[in-house]
Formats: sequence, C-alpha cells, structure tokens
Amino acid sequence: MKSKDQLEVKINPDWCKGCGNCVSFCPTNVLAIDHHGKSTMVNREGCILCGMCEKLCPDFAIWIGGKEDE
Ligand code: SF4
Ligand code: SF4
Repeated sequence: MKSKDQLEVKINPDWCKGCGNCVSFCPTNVLAIDHHGKSTMVNREGCILCGMCEKLCPDFAIWIGGKEDE
C-alpha cells in the first residue's frame, strides 16, 4: 500500500472523452477541460486524493496511481 505522498491523479487523454464528470464533481475544483477537450489537472497541490474523479469517470480515463508508475 502506497502512502498518500506517493500517489497522484493520472489521466489518460486517449480514453477521456471530455464529458466533464470529473471536473464537475471534484470537491476541490482542481480539474478542468483543456483546449483539446480533455480533462487536465490544474492544481495538483489542491487534490485531496478523494477518488471521486476515478469513481465517476465512465471511461476509466482518470485514476489515482503511484507517482512512479507508468
Ligand atoms: S482525487 Fe478528488 S480532489 Fe483529486 S482530482 Fe480527483 S476528485 Fe478532485
Ligand atoms: S470523467 Fe473521465 S471521460 Fe469524463 S472528462 Fe473526466 S476523465 Fe474525461
């Protein structure tokens, strides 16, 4: 089990369809849709790793993973 400081939100833009679920429901508003229509992290320090984005993404395009993972 990794500790929180080893974790971060990962986004796979190839799978993201820009539905905005993660952006709308992130409690700290640290996600946005970029000019390519993909979800992007705009304030990594503000992310509390709650997992809401991962839970609500219909396309498995965003998840909490280890910082070192590919
Ligand atoms: S883990 Fe929580 S705080 Fe972090 S980006 Fe996802 S919804 Fe927002
Ligand atoms: S919920 Fe998933 S598909 Fe929708 S914008 Fe976020 S990452 Fe992209």
